[in-house]
Amino acid sequence: MVEDEKAGRRGRIVVVAGVNGVGKSTVLAKVKEARSDLRVVNYGDEMFALAKRQTLVNTRDEIRKLPLQNQLELQKRAAQNIRELARDENVIVDTHVLVTTPNGYFPGLPRWVVEGLSPDTIVLIEAPPDLVFARRVNDKTRVRSDQDTPQEIKTFMDLARVAAIASAILVGATVKFIQNLEGDPSRAANEIVKLF
Ligand code: AMP
Ligand code: MG
Repeated sequence: MVEDEKAGRRGRIVVVAGVNGVGKSTVLAKVKEARSDLRVVNYGDEMFALAKRQTLVNTRDEIRKLPLQNQLELQKRAAQNIRELARDENVIVDTHVLVTTPNGYFPGLPRWVVEGLSPDTIVLIEAPPDLVFARRVNDKTRVRSDQDTPQEIKTFMDLARVAAIASAILVGATVKFIQNLEGDPSRAANEIVKLF
């Protein structure tokens, strides 16, 4: 394991983000297959568990519609919990760099989150917007009432790049854009594994 001077912890932290439908879960499942020693923590799971305990939501897709103050508190507490988990291990944090709320884009990695996690690298998983669009149409597991067009998806992906860089600047992390091509999630997974 690598000694991290910045945060006084051992192990690396890599944040992995990507818009819904980009295939992030599939890629991270491949990462776990390849490297069982890497711990994958899902930020949404952490926020959902906290929100459910406070009976604020019933489904994870309701989190981004909560009043912003609630989202901020959940986000901060999730960062603390994840930071605890990540003390001595190599950790991947599965999250978002931008969250769409009724009030506009909410940063997934504002200063208090990214400084708390202190990632070595921020990875953005990307795929062609048309493919993301098709995957969303076919995904029946999530509540996706607000169906974006491929052009809107492209705009959001461009903004996600900007958000990833902005967060990285705060902590001196590197940023890596990784393409998840159709039918080949292992390739993207391998790119992530190489970061450890
Ligand atoms: P996911 O299943 O990864 O889409 O995450 C579920 C929900 O958790 C998202 O729709 C957001 O509302 C919330 N979430 C995940 N990561 C973050 C973050 N870093 N900051 C704020 N909200 C987040
Ligand atoms: Mg996901």
